[in-house]
Amino acid sequence: LARDYIDGIPKESDMYLSTASTKLQVPEGSEAVLVKNLYLSCDPYMRGAKKPEPGRITFFAPNSPVVGYGVSKVLASGHPDFREGDLVWGITTWEEYSLITRTESLFKIHHTDVPLSYYTGILGMPGMTAYAGFYGICSPKKGDFVYISSAFGAVGQLVGQFAKLLGCYVVGSAGSKEKVEILKNKLGFDEAFNYKEEEDYDAALKRYFPQGIDIYFDNVGGKMLDAALLNMRLHGRIAVCGMISQYDLEEHQGVRNLMHLIYQRIRMEGFFVYDHYHLYPEFLETVLPYIRQGKIDYVEHITHGIETGPAALVGLFSGLNFGKSVVVLAQE
Ligand code: NDP
Repeated sequence: LARDYIDGIPKESDMYLSTASTKLQVPEGSEAVLVKNLYLSCDPYMRGAKKPEPGRITFFAPNSPVVGYGVSKVLASGHPDFREGDLVWGITTWEEYSLITRTESLFKIHHTDVPLSYYTGILGMPGMTAYAGFYGICSPKKGDFVYISSAFGAVGQLVGQFAKLLGCYVVGSAGSKEKVEILKNKLGFDEAFNYKEEEDYDAALKRYFPQGIDIYFDNVGGKMLDAALLNMRLHGRIAVCGMISQYDLEEHQGVRNLMHLIYQRIRMEGFFVYDHYHLYPEFLETVLPYIRQGKIDYVEHITHGIETGPAALVGLFSGLNFGKSVVVLAQE
């Protein structure tokens, strides 16, 4: 459970474990769905809790279960679209069993020949983010020079593989030697570098992109965004997906090189995955065959037991996750 509202990066002490046996059931006449949670997803957006705001989900609220994405099995349903035994992914709570009233966020899982945990990552919200951001915002084409920051995360590893499948030249940055090795040797990136070993991001990007960058898929913001701006080619595109380097700063770092948007006629566009879920069926049709044919790989950072959740969530903000971070509560 969450202790209180939080503002900024969560700490393990912001959460505590509570054991209670409550008899959950779907209230008479309600459209709620009672589920057993199988996999919980740790995602950076969960830090943006603060106090409740109209129209926004509050992920942390005093003495309430943490709210987040997960994969669950339906035990009972008052909703006509869901039946006992269905597998679903969507917004649930960090509990072994949840009564979900926000059923509009639930997607039924029809394809179970792939790991179910994938619906927290490559086949869930982060996958949709990669798909909508890369194809929808970046206007990619064969031969483009593509740079992705936080490239070994839940979103980044997929963006890089989409770009490779299209025939782009792809470079990613990540925060350790091991992550860099995996990007190059397992996920097919042309090059990768450890940004923590670079003092001058501009020089690093010039080394990997002597001819400049056509597409920058930005997951981190701040100084990396500033350096990327200096290296964009004419008519380059920047998809502003996330700014994880800024989330814990009291004052956000200023970006000084915006003039390059003009010089190089760059299009820089932010996006929210929630605006793109209508593309989910099309996304599945694209990505499932790639997974089945082994054309796309996906690395997950798996921990077992709800008690591992707080550390797994907090670890996202220091890069402790090695791939998409998932907490396993139960097999089906
Ligand atoms: P990740 O799985 O990539 O986990 C976060 C990673 O960020 C860490 O593993 C770490 O990797 C890196 N990181 C942490 N702190 C810093 C820092 N100060 N500077 C640079 N890198 C840092 O997360 P996701 O793939 O799920 O999300 C990627 C980004 O996309 C996030 O910014 C997230 O908020 C955003 N997002 C946006 C969505 C949208 O709709 N626009 C939807 C989903 C996510 P490393 O070891 O490489 O440092």
